[in-house]
Amino acid sequence: MQVKMWGTRGSIATPGPETARYGGNTSCVQVTGREGTVLVLDAGSGIRRMPAGLAPNVKRVDVLLTHLHMDHILGLGFFGPLYNPGMEVHIWGPASTTLDLRTRLNRYLSPPLFPVHLRDLPCKLALHDVPRADFDIGEFHISATTVCHPGPTVGYRIASGPTVMAYMPDHEPALGVTSFPMRKEWTSGFPVARGVDLLLHDTQYTDSEYADRVGWGHSTFQQSIRFADLCGAKRLVAVHHDPTHSDTDLDEMISLAIAAAQPKFPVVGAQEGVVFNLGPDANPPRPLIGP
Ligand SMILES: [Zn+2]
Ligand SMILES: [Zn+2]
Repeated sequence: MQVKMWGTRGSIATPGPETARYGGNTSCVQVTGREGTVLVLDAGSGIRRMPAGLAPNVKRVDVLLTHLHMDHILGLGFFGPLYNPGMEVHIWGPASTTLDLRTRLNRYLSPPLFPVHLRDLPCKLALHDVPRADFDIGEFHISATTVCHPGPTVGYRIASGPTVMAYMPDHEPALGVTSFPMRKEWTSGFPVARGVDLLLHDTQYTDSEYADRVGWGHSTFQQSIRFADLCGAKRLVAVHHDPTHSDTDLDEMISLAIAAAQPKFPVVGAQEGVVFNLGPDANPPRPLIGP
């Protein structure tokens, strides 16, 4: 399994010299299986460049949305495969109790906000509410579990044989908890991240920033490390960087968090373009910072 970061920023795209290293594009991750199946996790602005990572023989892509906040869907209209008649594109998103996925995506992908309707896209397009039960796409076995974040939001657990990763870019498991973490069975997201080889998790805030943002749906570096430890994750990749944090800020925040928490596993900050190879014969991902 290969995991490539195409968008690491949270909330809003933040291009500029001060974010060039960690990246300014919003959430998008490509997961490619040993048999060539391609999953795209979220459709933030990073998805625009993502087709450059597609092998020429790929005829199907599955886009798995964690939720429909704009930073996770704003790149969708600029995703090249949607305009390719030879391509099959499946978009999966969390179910809502009110409107189906197509209706909710159409709010953005239609005039006046966007010139093209979903129905006019030339690719073979299929939309799916993510099932409550586990499901398979190619060689991947996937489960999507509702997690703590405003609006219907899921975290994805993706397995290929014995190799497992989890993706939870927007997640506030510490909300309403006096001492975090609580017991495993009471912690939001635990079933998603249990024992994973690689955990991509929300680390938007410092402790002091979080004090003013409780309930906004995000985590601190310290909470993320504690969550990864509780879940027995083997590596933590910090994603959904706050738009106000420069590369220098992130270097400092990650170093301080590691020094304070002394995690038993590698912790790195997600940088746009970085690839993690997972599986029995993969090279261990290179820690950019930390142990
Ligand atoms: Zn977000
Ligand atoms: Zn969100």
